[in-house]
Amino acid sequence: MATTSHPAISARGKYEPVIGLEVHVQLLTASKMFCSCANRFGDAPNTNVCPVCLGLPGALPVLNSKGVEFAVLAAMALNCRINETSIFARKNYFYPDLPKGYQISQYDKPLAEFGHVNITVGGVTKKIGITRLHLEEDAGKSLHEGFPGASETTAVDLNRSGVPLIEIVSEPDLASPDEAYEYLTRLKEIILYTGVSDCNMEEGSLRCDANISVKPKGQKQFGTKTEVKNVNSFRFVREALEYEIERHIEVIESGGKITQESRLYNSAEGKTYGMRSKEQAHDYRYFPEPDLLPLVVDEKWQSQIRATLPELPEALRARLIADYGITAQDAAVLTISRSLADQFEAAAKAAKNPKRVANLVQSEILGRLKAKNLEIDHSPISMKGVAASADLMESGAISSKMLKDLYDLAFEQNKDFPTIYEEAGRPEQSRDTGALEKIIDEVIAANPKQLEQYRGGKKTVIAFFVGQVMKASKGQANPQMVNDLLAKKLDA
Ligand code: ADP
Ligand code: MG
Ligand code: ZN
Repeated sequence: MATTSHPAISARGKYEPVIGLEVHVQLLTASKMFCSCANRFGDAPNTNVCPVCLGLPGALPVLNSKGVEFAVLAAMALNCRINETSIFARKNYFYPDLPKGYQISQYDKPLAEFGHVNITVGGVTKKIGITRLHLEEDAGKSLHEGFPGASETTAVDLNRSGVPLIEIVSEPDLASPDEAYEYLTRLKEIILYTGVSDCNMEEGSLRCDANISVKPKGQKQFGTKTEVKNVNSFRFVREALEYEIERHIEVIESGGKITQESRLYNSAEGKTYGMRSKEQAHDYRYFPEPDLLPLVVDEKWQSQIRATLPELPEALRARLIADYGITAQDAAVLTISRSLADQFEAAAKAAKNPKRVANLVQSEILGRLKAKNLEIDHSPISMKGVAASADLMESGAISSKMLKDLYDLAFEQNKDFPTIYEEAGRPEQSRDTGALEKIIDEVIAANPKQLEQYRGGKKTVIAFFVGQVMKASKGQANPQMVNDLLAKKLDA
């Protein structure tokens, strides 16, 4: 049977993808961007609305300064330069969930520019440029029910109308779907650390449009891009990009041309589809918003905001490595969320040996979490619990075998280590020298050849004896005690 190779697959090596991402992030302000309505997800439809966010004639927007502060904080965390003066602009388009017929956004004078995020893929660290970060308001939400073309009805919820957003536009610096995934992961992590958004993708607090083109390897000039709109998980962004890369190459290889358009990703099918062409030709007729003054964030305000900037993930990881002697891999796991990192640090400070705490997370916690399909911030054993168990091992009170058994119990019963340890009656590994001495005497008596080697000068044979004694004690003996007692008896 003849095998015909897929043209796109065989041609993949001839092309380079070029990717740029536009990310919208909802800010966690108490009220909306230009009115005092509550900014809250999940309320009954159309309950958080007023003349301003309903777009009623004559209603005037009033700027929410908390929204500005949050946007500036995010921009600073992303290494952007803040423009002291930025301009709000009207972006005009018609949509049923956009009652004013325009969205207040920023256009040629955005709040911030020239930022970057560092990503590491395959051991290589790369700086991804951020072109701009600007402030805008969200539109409402259309809810479709029933079957398109038949019984479909659409309802509009305007609770989201006027909610503050930042849009973060990257440079076309991303060269693969994996890099795009990593960029989104790092970006989200940084935003979460600043606390300006919960980045909850299910609730639409973080949304991504992915722009993609391909070009022959080595060519400077970019190819025509398509934009995959509103993808709601990082995994789907990666999949949609993979699909688009193959599709672009296939079109080009068969002599066709890519049309610049917006597309939607169907995650069930793993395919993208072009959106109706009417929606493609956008002319937003931007013009400066006449109802708002230019936004001025002067030096003084900037430095006040900068003072609230928390330690960011990259810096935190470097510091944890330096302060606690943990590895980069330890640090990566322990900084998955800021709260976990704080927990680790508090525990590590209190523990006798912080490195042991990190080691236990790697060797005893992660595997058990994986088996239960749990994230580390939902571990039954808290960082405090890990530290408590680490101290017990450090002092020789419990053996590693005992620790493992107690961890198993903790995961089975969903209880933290201190509780399990108490409930088990604060077990201790045997320190009863009488019983241990008896075992040691038996082991020595049973191994005359090794004894002879030892006494003949081959001191390393002690390791053999330690092993035998630990085995005979079923792992309950304290290794330090075994060592000390053995040495005494062998040298006698
Ligand atoms: P548009 O005006 O269509 O929104 P922009 O120039 O504002 O285009 O860019 C939007 C996003 O698309 C940015 O993230 C940018 O990096 C990315 N981008 C621009 N040109 C290309 C291209 N040829 N291929 C891939 N991504 C691109
Ligand atoms: Mg765009
Ligand atoms: Zn309102």
